[in-house]
Amino acid sequence: MKGGKNIFSSSEHLSTEQILNYLRHSLTRKEMHEVEKHLADCELCSDAIDGSKKLEADASLMKITSELQKMARKRKMVRRRIFSQIELISLFAVVFLILFLIVVVVVLFWKK
Ligand SMILES: [Zn+2]
Repeated sequence: MKGGKNIFSSSEHLSTEQILNYLRHSLTRKEMHEVEKHLADCELCSDAIDGSKKLEADASLMKITSELQKMARKRKMVRRRIFSQIELISLFAVVFLILFLIVVVVVLFWKK
């Protein structure tokens, strides 16, 4: 009985799908074991894994970078909205302060 031969059915080497699944940890424990066993004595597939690992890292880095850009863009929009709100509030505050000063001055002059 040849255990685990099923995942190497098409060839003796790992398929691209197996390599990707291995890198994404989406293999079953048994498949994972078979892949690792194959990698232990197959330089070709180890190199393929290393190469794919780099590609995966680049791809996820690109994904992370675009996510960060998206988040930064969103945050900038929020900040702009908050800033205009603060502007509005300070405008009200200034107007209110001027009115208050006018009232105070008027009251003081009234008393004299
Ligand atoms: Zn191999």
